[in-house]
Amino acid sequence: MYENNHKYFGLAVSPGIASGKVYLHRSDSTLHIPRMQIQRKDIPCEMDKLVAARIKVEHELYTLRETISTKFGASYAELIDSQIAILNDEEITKQIQAYMDEHLVHVPFAFRVILNQYIDIMDGGQSDFFKERIMDVRDIKQQVLKNLLGLDHDMSLSSQTDSIILVSKYLSPGDIIRLSSDNVVGMVSETGGKTSHAAILAKAMGIPTLLGVEDITYNLNSGDRILLDALHGHLIYQPDQETEQHYRKKMARYTAKNADYKELRSEKSETCDGRKIELLANIELPVESKQVLEYKAKGVGLYRSEYLYLMKKILPTEEELFDEYYRVVSALPDKEIIIRTIDLGGDKIAAALAKHTRDESNTFMGYRAIRISLDQPDLFITQLKAILRASAFGKISIMLPMITVMEELISAKEFIEKAKNELRKEGKKFNENIPVGILVEVPSAAMMAEEFAAQVDFLSIGTNDLTQYLLAVDRGNEKVNKLYNHFDPVVLRTLRWIVNAANSNKVPLSVCGEMAGDPKAIIVLLGLGINRLSMSPVSLDRVRFAVRNL
Ligand code: PEP
Ligand code: MG
Repeated sequence: MYENNHKYFGLAVSPGIASGKVYLHRSDSTLHIPRMQIQRKDIPCEMDKLVAARIKVEHELYTLRETISTKFGASYAELIDSQIAILNDEEITKQIQAYMDEHLVHVPFAFRVILNQYIDIMDGGQSDFFKERIMDVRDIKQQVLKNLLGLDHDMSLSSQTDSIILVSKYLSPGDIIRLSSDNVVGMVSETGGKTSHAAILAKAMGIPTLLGVEDITYNLNSGDRILLDALHGHLIYQPDQETEQHYRKKMARYTAKNADYKELRSEKSETCDGRKIELLANIELPVESKQVLEYKAKGVGLYRSEYLYLMKKILPTEEELFDEYYRVVSALPDKEIIIRTIDLGGDKIAAALAKHTRDESNTFMGYRAIRISLDQPDLFITQLKAILRASAFGKISIMLPMITVMEELISAKEFIEKAKNELRKEGKKFNENIPVGILVEVPSAAMMAEEFAAQVDFLSIGTNDLTQYLLAVDRGNEKVNKLYNHFDPVVLRTLRWIVNAANSNKVPLSVCGEMAGDPKAIIVLLGLGINRLSMSPVSLDRVRFAVRNL
């Protein structure tokens, strides 16, 4: 298993080559804790040890909190507070003390028993959200135990000085935000597909990433040296010097090629025969506005607005949301910015909405996106008012995700009118003619594209979900990844159908799924008559190159 130079294969979802030391996140390794008996008089001293271990872990969490705040904004650091709260939970402390009183065992043993009881209680929920929260408790458990047992050896992420490659069974979008410190140069996980939201976020952060690498958390240990080739989809365990050198050259070639593409950023994005293609960026976080400018995108074709909700314990307020959108609009004053209303649900579960999704067995088909917004008027109106207020400062449009039936669009438009009325009463400014469009990403909306086109200012095709739903294949499941293919004839036929519907209604149409950023797809998309493409900023250079060579 552990041969040097051994290759492990996976899906390259965020391009690049990286070399560094493995950091196993959420390793399953169970620490061996012998049951040691103590005397009653030792209990206070054992409790002191617990306090000391907690202080150390708390310090690490505060450092992480600070890093996230500086990088993404204070609201994004809120979930760290939940971990700190678990760490300092008084009820848990009382139970540990009571357990020691009754059984006269040393503190690591008592701590593990009580935390395991907690995990068992939480283990009832099916949803990703609960799985993540359980993992949070497990993380805290492991960190405190390692400190209590003197096994921490400074293995916390914040204390690492080397380049780190994060290796995990599962990476959630929240994990990526929390763990993307400056020395994380690559990420690897056992689960996830090419268009899973973890993949999209990894790309947004520009961190080379491989997903779907089978059993990798069993085959690697923290501290192992690996080379990650997220251009071709493999990693190499403990590479020898020759291999290291080979990859250094490969990396140099890749960087040189990128520099060539970069030269084209100021050139027109048009085909050899003069057809103009608009290239826009997909963003998830306000900090990415910098990349929109750097990669010279024409505007933002998709702003996935749900990440702030994911990083908070409670729903964001109108003011917080307005600040968020204002950050983007003020960074990109003359650019078109299409804000998509929340697409929570599926693999993106916000703490504040967890109770609604806890028992769902089919999250991608369940309580998701516009379905949540229409079901929770306060949440929807709050977001709409924030978007509308930001529209007074720039060229903002509203895009509605996962529209499935016409009634949803009609109802969403009524909410938009209601939000406008409230703002009028409050005397707040907004763009009265803010464009409203929909994401065509559910087969029913694609089939009815003609009717939808007649009711909106623009359409955008979300090929990620459209492919998932047309082919009935989970976009985030590495086991069925082979079936997930945006070149499948059924996807292409559906695109053609939507293009015709948009053209006959003279409605602007774009593609904003990952397909738009796939240089191999450009010839097909342009051939189908599509002239607007929105993609992760890192894909813009290669797509511009592809367009200019067509
Ligand atoms: C899509 O489904 O193609 C899309 C653009 O939205 P998301 O990837 O956020 O689901
Ligand atoms: Mg989608």
